[in-house]
Amino acid sequence: MEIVLRNLTEDYVMLVYNEIAPTLDCCKCDQCRLDTISYALNRLKPRYVVSSEGELMTKLCEFDYQFETTVMSELTKAAKVVKENPRHKLNKDQ
Ligand SMILES: [Zn+2]
Repeated sequence: MEIVLRNLTEDYVMLVYNEIAPTLDCCKCDQCRLDTISYALNRLKPRYVVSSEGELMTKLCEFDYQFETTVMSELTKAAKVVKENPRHKLNKDQ
C-alpha cells in the first residue's frame, strides 16, 4: 500500500469549506475557492501525518469540535478578504 505524507489540516479545511461554501457570501470560482482555503490554512496549525491513503479519512475524524469551529471562523474571515480583493479575472461574470 502506498505511504504518503499529508497535511491533515489541509484535507480538513477543504472538507469544511465544501460544507459551508453555500453559506459563504463570496465567489466560488477556482481562484477564489483556493485563495480562501490557502488564506485559512496559513493561519491554522499544520498537522502532518505519514499514513496510507485509506487511513486518512479515519484520521480526519479525529479532529474535535473545537477545531471545526476554528476552521469555520478562519474560512469565514478568509472569504471576506477574498471577496474584497478578488483575484479572478475581472471580466468574468461573477
Ligand atoms: Zn472568483
